[in-house]
Amino acid sequence: MKATMPRMDSFRRAKLFALAATALALALPAAASRAEVGEQGKAEHVKIELWDGKRAMTLINEQLRFTPRSLDTPGHQQTIDFITSELAKTGIDDVSTQRWAYRSDDGKSYAMTNIIARLDPSNPRRVIVATHYDSIVRAYADKSNPLGPMPGANNSASGVAVLLETARVLSLLPKPAVGIDMIFFDGEEGPRSLGAGDPNWKALGSPYFAAHLGNLYANRKPEKAVVFDMVCYQNLQLSPELSSLVYAKPEVQKFWDIGAKIARSAFLRTATNYPISDDHTALAAAGIPSFLVIDFEYEPWFNTTQDTVDKCSAASLETVGRTLLRYLYAR
Ligand SMILES: [Zn+2]
Repeated sequence: MKATMPRMDSFRRAKLFALAATALALALPAAASRAEVGEQGKAEHVKIELWDGKRAMTLINEQLRFTPRSLDTPGHQQTIDFITSELAKTGIDDVSTQRWAYRSDDGKSYAMTNIIARLDPSNPRRVIVATHYDSIVRAYADKSNPLGPMPGANNSASGVAVLLETARVLSLLPKPAVGIDMIFFDGEEGPRSLGAGDPNWKALGSPYFAAHLGNLYANRKPEKAVVFDMVCYQNLQLSPELSSLVYAKPEVQKFWDIGAKIARSAFLRTATNYPISDDHTALAAAGIPSFLVIDFEYEPWFNTTQDTVDKCSAASLETVGRTLLRYLYAR
């Protein structure tokens, strides 16, 4: 099923247009420095087995208690509180938020929050690890219940679980050579979502973050960014995402090479034949080499009420989390 051309629904087409517009405007970032290759041996000694898929599954289940977690719902604020309380348990003490109001085209105002957790904040070398925590406004793709609340185990709780478990493990391990900024973006799905019929859909949290880079990075931009979305599916199949290969090809290759050593069957070599617009898009447009790790072929559950935790597995989460750990030390 991976070999066939994916169904080109309006959701994907429009995301493609959004991406194409961005790509045209983008001055391609320079290839990442390869000076770190000599230190890669260190990555082999990182205790990646500390990264616990069962814990990550629990983190997904806990988020599902707050469903719906879309903008302007009680569950949205409960998810913010949950992420900040989980980060507090890790011992990472530099946790901050970006708060602003977003006014949609129908005049409604939304309270927005990006959550930022910084490891080794005095290190001038920064790497961003990001996801979005808002869920889609409704399960629009569900034929029997298109107005139903979106559980979003895969889209979006899985990315949050990967970041939170990674934060816990990183706080137990020696510092990597780079400082890491974990960003939990708000509003990737927007107030109405593209698939639910919003032709003006755009991600909200990552462009806001990109427009205020100077607040966090006064002198030097982050060296790169990796964004996770939809990474818990039990039959995990990760293809390099097409726009990521434009923005950060050497980093994609590095991540996939590391991943293939951990779980060969999960890391496909053939790129998606369509670009996907997500939170990496705004970061790349801001000049940060950025890539997306996503398993976008998630039919028939994609954005339905059946995007539930039984579709996820601890093994898939571990594959992604342990690859990320090794990647962050492979410098
Ligand atoms: Zn998503």
